[in-house]
Amino acid sequence: MNEENYQPETLAVRAGTARSQFGEHSEAMFLTSSFVFDSAAQAAARFIGEQPGNIYSRFTNPSVTMFEERLAALEGAEQCIATASGMAAILSCVMGVLKAGDHIVASVSLFGSTVNLFNNVIKKFGVETTYVSATDVAEWQAAVRPNSRLFFLETPSNPLTEISDIAAIAAVAKNCGALLAVDNCFCTPILQRPLEMGADIVIHSATKYIDGQGRVLGGAVLGNRKNLEGVYGFLRTTGPTMSAFNAWIFLKGLETLKLRMDAHSANALELARWLEAQPNVARVFYPGLPSHPQHVLAMRQQKTGGGIVSFEVKGGKDAAWRVIDATKMLSITANLGDTRTTICHSASTTHARISPEARAAAGITDGLIRIAVGLEAVVDIQHDLRGLAG
Ligand SMILES: *Cc1c(COP(=O)(O)O)cnc(C)c1O
Repeated sequence: MNEENYQPETLAVRAGTARSQFGEHSEAMFLTSSFVFDSAAQAAARFIGEQPGNIYSRFTNPSVTMFEERLAALEGAEQCIATASGMAAILSCVMGVLKAGDHIVASVSLFGSTVNLFNNVIKKFGVETTYVSATDVAEWQAAVRPNSRLFFLETPSNPLTEISDIAAIAAVAKNCGALLAVDNCFCTPILQRPLEMGADIVIHSATKYIDGQGRVLGGAVLGNRKNLEGVYGFLRTTGPTMSAFNAWIFLKGLETLKLRMDAHSANALELARWLEAQPNVARVFYPGLPSHPQHVLAMRQQKTGGGIVSFEVKGGKDAAWRVIDATKMLSITANLGDTRTTICHSASTTHARISPEARAAAGITDGLIRIAVGLEAVVDIQHDLRGLAG
């Protein structure tokens, strides 16, 4: 299959499919830890890399390879390396790309565990991180040191949906010899393709929209072979690889990703518009709304505003908790990218470990609620936000 000529919908369904000797139509799940060889000579050829083929599922597995090829086709990447979780992808990326003494420039608006990884894990190995504004490109330039090797961002950010200008930040990175990694979890390749905009590496938590139904954990690192050589080496040696079972779930998830992202986006836009009209809502954060400060950039960079909507309720934390506690259908959880709509109070959950001052500086107020809009009827989601009525 010449994957370059197909549309994303087609790639999502077809790319990467490999059939076994049985001619199955749906992808097979290869639940095997190791692979056997025809002869001692073949085993030797495989082990020294003279002959391609599977050896052991910590290195490669056919179900995982199918997922990697399908996601690579969607992101327009030369290579995809699947991992056990989104965090395993970020860990493998930094361990594969950086060495002691290197420096990271990162957006201040990152997933909490990513910040923990940078501040508490890789710092022990001599890698320092400077945090800069997600939106101010001049801050990225100003933070560069001679040893800066990696820029890291996530756009739209959680929970305020700030948009980082991928092309502009990629240009700064290129200029100083650093790689730009973009965590594309919120958009997926259906809505945003960072490699086309100059990013070097794309990270996914497949746990979210790629599964789409809240079942299993997984992740991926994508880019060109040269940049990912160390990433694959790290993964193969240390083992945070994706299981064949999870790869099979994600293959099935990718097949409906376009349909789901379109539906999540349409529901989120409708809900965001409705929230803007509610008297008890002080502010709505959604890139698809013209009121979003970076609406124009968002619409240039992404196909839609995505599925995440945040809003600030008048009356602070008590009012926000009242709205959350009055729901009967929405799931009170910090997870996202599920068919089911989820709701959470960012200040006391995902951002609870950050000091109140830092939270205030980041704009995460006590009245802020984040909704990851699912696939239910919007009128039912609106109805479940009955607490907004006062
Ligand atoms: C969830 C998430 C991660 C981490 O993924 P896991 O699969 O939970 O390890 C990383 N980045 C973003 C933006 C996320 O939402």
